[in-house]
Amino acid sequence: MEVTNRYVVMRNHIDGTPQESDFELKTEALSLSIEPGKKELIVKNLYLSIDPYQLNRMKQKSSSQETTSFARAVKPSEAIDAYGVARVVASGIPAFKEDDLVAGLLTWGEYSIVKEGGLLNKVDNIGFPISHHVGVLAFSGLTAYAGFFEICKPKKGEKVFVSAASGSVGSLVGQYAKLFGCYVVGCASSQKKVDLLKQKLGFDEAFNYKEETDLKSTLKRYFPDGIDIYFDNVGAEMLEAAVENMNTFGRVAVCGVISEYTDKGRRAAPNMVDVIYKRITMQGFLAGDHMKVYKDFISDTVEHIQAGKLQVLEDISHGLESIPSAFVGLFRGDNIGKKMVQLADD
Ligand code: NAP
Repeated sequence: MEVTNRYVVMRNHIDGTPQESDFELKTEALSLSIEPGKKELIVKNLYLSIDPYQLNRMKQKSSSQETTSFARAVKPSEAIDAYGVARVVASGIPAFKEDDLVAGLLTWGEYSIVKEGGLLNKVDNIGFPISHHVGVLAFSGLTAYAGFFEICKPKKGEKVFVSAASGSVGSLVGQYAKLFGCYVVGCASSQKKVDLLKQKLGFDEAFNYKEETDLKSTLKRYFPDGIDIYFDNVGAEMLEAAVENMNTFGRVAVCGVISEYTDKGRRAAPNMVDVIYKRITMQGFLAGDHMKVYKDFISDTVEHIQAGKLQVLEDISHGLESIPSAFVGLFRGDNIGKKMVQLADD
């Protein structure tokens, strides 16, 4: 059988704030049968992950592009690979069969072809919505878990600050920190998000950073005794303000610097004298380097969800056409929780 596969490509490299007009839809005829001997799968995509790091891949040049295969550059007009969950339609790989539910590296399209050796695993569906395998039980969750426990090395009672706190990673970091016994403050860009952090996710405090004119004194107000851990998702001035308010031997997990992705001139310039004299550890990390905690991450997270102690925030758009607006919206703060696009029914 042959179908028409629609997929999203970039029209051009994107070096500033992404616009929907930077993308277009393409179509191709796709045979749903595999030639004998070809070690590949054809899968029908169900949910696709929408992630900020993709913007760095879409630039003409970014230092991230040379670091891991995951972050390699995307070229205009070519299919864009992205994490997601799919159903196997045809298999030339013995480990997979038709109808298997799989998660891994797909493409921003209705169907994907995955070659043997590509990042793809069968989903052991343990009764959660399939969408959970795109975010909380996938890389967003692992990023939050490994970043908080492995990089921040928390102690009970410590004071934790999380930026982009209502986002996919941030909402989980704050909740892991609360469950662990820390005092947690988050920031986000609207009152609605601030209310959600405090009322639904149990943050001790939250504030709308867009209403603050002096972030250093804002953080002083929320942390009169200083910050022990800063989980940084945004970079720039927020990182500078956090460093100024860190306690001695404080830790900064540099997870992402989204406010710098859209503006190559924007940089954090933290006071390095503070870093030295307060003996602050600032560590960048990639979730993929922490697969050794994957089992603990899954078992702890499943237990917390089942016990009703961890709220899962998902922000789902529908249909392939919504991929550009879903992606662009990340950089405007449109999303609450894990942004993903659903392409087909479970
Ligand atoms: P997300 O937080 O769900 O979505 C992005 C959020 O960032 C937006 O909702 C917005 O929320 C905030 N934002 C956008 N532009 C901003 C700006 N100019 N200044 C301040 N905040 C801005 O995305 P995510 O997937 O969880 O990713 C969060 C961060 O973690 C990103 O920096 C990402 O690159 C990074 N990350 C790193 C790894 C890793 O392995 N190191 C893995 C996954 C993600 P507000 O309402 O707060 O503005």
